[in-house]
Amino acid sequence: MSDLAALTAQALTEVAACQELAALEDVRVRWLGKKGVLTEQLKGLGALSASERPAAGARINQAKESLQAALEARRGALAQEQVERELASGTLDVTLPGRGEEPGGLHPVTKARLRIEAIFRGAGFEVAAGPEVEDDFHNFEALNIPANHPARAMHDTFYFADGRLLRTHTSPVQIRALKAHGAPIAIIAPGRVYRNDSDMTHSPMFHQLEGLVVGENVSFANMKAALHGFLKAFFEKDVGIRLRPSYFPFTEPSAEVDMSCVFCEGRGCRTCKHTGWLEISGCGMVHPNVLRASGVDAERFTGYAFGAGIDRLAMLRYGVNDLRLFFESDLRFLRQFRTLGA
Ligand SMILES: [Zn+2]
Repeated sequence: MSDLAALTAQALTEVAACQELAALEDVRVRWLGKKGVLTEQLKGLGALSASERPAAGARINQAKESLQAALEARRGALAQEQVERELASGTLDVTLPGRGEEPGGLHPVTKARLRIEAIFRGAGFEVAAGPEVEDDFHNFEALNIPANHPARAMHDTFYFADGRLLRTHTSPVQIRALKAHGAPIAIIAPGRVYRNDSDMTHSPMFHQLEGLVVGENVSFANMKAALHGFLKAFFEKDVGIRLRPSYFPFTEPSAEVDMSCVFCEGRGCRTCKHTGWLEISGCGMVHPNVLRASGVDAERFTGYAFGAGIDRLAMLRYGVNDLRLFFESDLRFLRQFRTLGA
């Protein structure tokens, strides 16, 4: 124990001589580490008698504390010197603005989907979902599109080797919801759908909105009112609608829904190809075959269904003229929606 003072003096000299933070750390380990010189001294206390031990222990701890304080002071000084060296050499320009962190925002398609969900929830609809990897029964067969039906050719389906497929529309959710809950039912099903098709107005993955209402005495007029009400709420405009006869295998009768152009109020512009109308949805009364395939009594219940493109609704609401902008992840485009309301 007699040389404790000498050891401490030696350690302090080494600390003062350190010119690098790494060298300082070596000194710390050599003296205060698990097998450090002062640590070994503490271990040696066991060899002393009980009367000598407290005083010796106190002296060693005092030596450790003074060394720790010296290490800390030297570390601060070396760090400061390093900053000053960097400042002097000009590698650190403290006048540059900080990079900062930008808050994220919702994608415009997500914004549109949430807006659609809120509007329909307010009208008593529930939001349903289904798998994106579907089987033939739910995507085609139960929707009155049997094998060899010409409508299958229009779907440009992505198939898996085992016969399953990426759903080509959100309509299979109609079947799943009816089989799970039966009638009466009022749901919307927004989600991703896939078709082997890509150009300026088509993306291989896009977002569709499905609507289904089945009950007693559900009529075509109910459907027209629901769609009209939705479009007025979504665009916050008193838009007009018109229905044109159409054909879908899973509805009968079927119709295309046109909405008066939200840009030119019907006068005619580029977006509406100078017709004053925008195609917005396909709809119709649920085909009895679809109700039967879902286990619903087609004599007692009737229903309507509609489908619309969420991407298209978003494009019209936010004034986006190219569908591909939604899927390119260009931050300059996406940032514009960050602070925008729904
Ligand atoms: Zn127009």
